[in-house]
Amino acid sequence: MINLPGVPAPLGRVIEMLSSLPGIGPKTAMRLGLNLLSRPASDAAQLSEALTVLHEQVGFCNVCGCFAEQGRCQFCDDVRRETNIVCVVEQPVDVLMMERGHVYRGHYHVLHGRLSPIDGIGPEQLNLQALDGRIAAGAVDELILASSATVDGEATAHYLANRYQANCYQTNRDQASRDQASSMKISRIARGVPEGGELEYLDEHTLSRAVEQRISWQGSV
Ligand SMILES: [Zn+2]
Repeated sequence: MINLPGVPAPLGRVIEMLSSLPGIGPKTAMRLGLNLLSRPASDAAQLSEALTVLHEQVGFCNVCGCFAEQGRCQFCDDVRRETNIVCVVEQPVDVLMMERGHVYRGHYHVLHGRLSPIDGIGPEQLNLQALDGRIAAGAVDELILASSATVDGEATAHYLANRYQANCYQTNRDQASRDQASSMKISRIARGVPEGGELEYLDEHTLSRAVEQRISWQGSV
């Protein structure tokens, strides 16, 4: 409970709730709370209603795990996208970031986490069963591993690569499906110099990786 001398209890409750949000400290929460109080009551009612329907109407796609208002997300339902390329990300927000680039036109699969033994998160806690099914069905020609460039993200990418390389031979008993599955390409998103980035400000690991993963001049233009 935040100690706010002289603040009416209902306002204190709003300030306390706001300050629990990431990036909002007590002073900002106080300013937001006072701002809400100064507005017409209808504004606060609209905000309250928007928050109420947020959990009622937004869930996860039952195919890929992205945000969805009904059973399937807008990406799985978009017939213009390439269905045979699947980009694996950690969280639904990563999909939103990918879409900001306006380049990727394939499908997604959201893990809803990443491997983290210290936090007790193993493969069973990730959204992998649905991905197993998509790959076993032969619907994926390329799997792009876009987990984060952290220790756990790299470990997750390694795990997925091993899981699905091995999966090609262990779960597909007949020769036809084995050939189809084993032809799937697995790739990892590159790391390198950010747009507009000066080399002198890069950490040595990013710069080293950028040199290792250099591309031909033809491919860069
Ligand atoms: Zn989907």
